[in-house]
Amino acid sequence: MSQKRVLITGAAGFLGSHLCDRFIKENCHVMAMDNLITGDLRNIEHLFKLKNFEFYHHDVSKFVHVPGDLDYILHFASPASPIDYLKIPIQTLKVGSLGTHNLLGLAKAKNARILVASTSEVYGDPLVHPQNEEYWGNVNPVGPRGVYDEAKRFQEAMTMAYHTYHGLETRIVRIFNTYGPRMRLNDGRVLPAFIGQALRGEDLTAFGDGSQTRSFCYVDDLIEGIYRLLMSDCATPVNIGNPNEITINEFAEEIIKLTGTSQKVVYKPLPQDDPKQRKPDTTKAKSLLNWEPKVSREEGLRITYEYFKSLPKERWYEEPHGRDFGKK
Ligand code: UDP
Repeated sequence: MSQKRVLITGAAGFLGSHLCDRFIKENCHVMAMDNLITGDLRNIEHLFKLKNFEFYHHDVSKFVHVPGDLDYILHFASPASPIDYLKIPIQTLKVGSLGTHNLLGLAKAKNARILVASTSEVYGDPLVHPQNEEYWGNVNPVGPRGVYDEAKRFQEAMTMAYHTYHGLETRIVRIFNTYGPRMRLNDGRVLPAFIGQALRGEDLTAFGDGSQTRSFCYVDDLIEGIYRLLMSDCATPVNIGNPNEITINEFAEEIIKLTGTSQKVVYKPLPQDDPKQRKPDTTKAKSLLNWEPKVSREEGLRITYEYFKSLPKERWYEEPHGRDFGKK
């Protein structure tokens, strides 16, 4: 069997870099693409020496071309934290819409199968709990999260249209909160926020009264689910996430115990449109992909904490964006 050729966008990001590792392990030829706005080359620098790895510094919101055959495209390029959407709202909209369109076009031209990264954010602040794939969501299009949520909803619609109209082989994964090594420490997401605060000896900032819930999936479990979905024949969206739900207050207590910090939890205002609860219904992934998460939060958090602790100390203090990316 000839070696499969895979294009991964957002390859220098948290999930993209883990996908690169996975497809290298599967003995594929990996073409990694990233414009490095929120991605970080340090996540994939260990791959540059490999013969079957290439890197393209490119913004997928502009026309995308790669040489040669392509078997799979995994579209993971997008800012993915509320701080980023606020800072670069227009790029967030463009990568989910124009970027997706470009990659669907590329998939069609190369006769490749494409998997796009969607998100539990398509459910917005959900009125159905837990969220199954049939639920249409409760999204504010003009709120601060709208630029991400609506881009991802458009992405799903565009992907389904290429599937039904052009017969393209498409896959849509709805990713729920995921954590693990290579998250950006200061991107505002709750897990790196809490661990970073503990490492720097600061208080942990819970937003609102901390009663909102999330369900955290360890990255290796997510990557396995994505791989299985890509290899399946399911074109409709599939939730991948860990259904083990926890309040932010409970989560803060777990981080305090894990890190041994003597700091306390302090409360800050709840960001606008912050979902009150989130938990995936993973029945579809279980029955269709025979997938369920295996890594407990205790184990996943331990590995993740060790990773952040082992980073050079100056990285604990790094700003999420050291560069100016302009307005578009
Ligand atoms: N959160 C928090 N403190 C922080 C950062 C986030 O309490 O320093 C809360 C946030 O308000 C949300 C939850 O943690 O309710 C998860 O936030 P995150 O940004 O990680 O993901 P998302 O809201 O997209 O699920």
